[in-house]
Amino acid sequence: MSLSDKINKLCEQALEKEMVGGIVTLKKTADDSAMHCLITEQSELEGTDPLIPFFPGNVANFVKKLTRITPTTDKILVILRPCEMRAVVEMVKLAQIQNQNIIWLTFDCPGTIPRSDVRGEKIPDSHEFFSDAMNSDDKIRTICATCDYVRADTGDIGFLSFEQDAPFIAYTEQGKKFLNELGIEFIEKAVTDGLDKIIARRIENENKLYDKLNKQVKGIDNLVAAFAGCVNCHNCMTNCPICICRECFFESEAMDFAGDMFIELARRKKGLRAPTDLGVFHIGRMSHMTTSCVSCGACEEACPEKIIVGQIFKWVAANVQKVFDYSAGKKWEDELPLKTFCEEELEQVTGIE
Ligand code: SF4
Ligand code: SF4
Ligand code: SF4
Repeated sequence: MSLSDKINKLCEQALEKEMVGGIVTLKKTADDSAMHCLITEQSELEGTDPLIPFFPGNVANFVKKLTRITPTTDKILVILRPCEMRAVVEMVKLAQIQNQNIIWLTFDCPGTIPRSDVRGEKIPDSHEFFSDAMNSDDKIRTICATCDYVRADTGDIGFLSFEQDAPFIAYTEQGKKFLNELGIEFIEKAVTDGLDKIIARRIENENKLYDKLNKQVKGIDNLVAAFAGCVNCHNCMTNCPICICRECFFESEAMDFAGDMFIELARRKKGLRAPTDLGVFHIGRMSHMTTSCVSCGACEEACPEKIIVGQIFKWVAANVQKVFDYSAGKKWEDELPLKTFCEEELEQVTGIE
């Protein structure tokens, strides 16, 4: 049985026993790509592949929509990658997802191939992809090749796809109850052997990326140069699960100016580049959300100009989150950095002892 079949079997049983009213998983599309899909019938499992190595967007955005008005009455099973699970944790903390009647099933993630490599090509078989990923990061997105959070341990159920016999693991009481009711065997203590090699390689890649960005993107001039090709389409923002404002300041009338102001700006800057407001948009977005950025790279996948926006945000977020001793989405119990104010921070911010 393939790894995906093992998860699909669980899905089939959960629907058959009416333990869930729906399942959110990845389903292959007619153009050989894949999209997230909410299915409610066993027959709709045909063509689903929860482990397909393709990232059509962060599923947390869909779950936000699913629970925005009210959570579902029936239980929903959501199958998702570790970076998506971490986005969910942040969005629950930010009151964007109502975490009721949802069972989260996460899996050890080998990474996903870039969207640009998929167009017109068949996505590799997910089962084979796992064995390739054990030894190489060559085919996956840079954001994945530098991701060391390949095991999610914040959901209800984990699927340890890199371990011997790929067991399910129950992380919460809800997960345990669910697996028991299904009659599926599971373990309760995580094993890590299968991931050690991958994680060590990913940390090395991550350090190399940060060294490169420190040289190429650090400082305002370099940052502006990195975004030189930006067409200000805001795709990165729309696809980011953490950009949560219902009305974006950068799309509001506050960014409209009288004609004379443009002349004035052009005189001051010795020529005004169009589209305008690029720097303020990217730096503004960074200041709004890097405490919660989960380095999923959905922004970069959505960028038509191939700007390494996800890698840049990942690097900025790593630095920002280090200051707050916070790791976005890793722990339910850690409070959002900007929601708390520690006494010692008063001196840091004001300089007053
Ligand atoms: S960023 Fe990490 S968790 Fe997300 S798809 Fe890539 S390897 Fe998987
Ligand atoms: S900024 Fe990019 S990498 Fe960070 S959470 Fe948003 S989409 Fe993911
Ligand atoms: S998606 Fe790319 S081109 Fe569009 S605003 Fe973001 S960085 Fe610029």
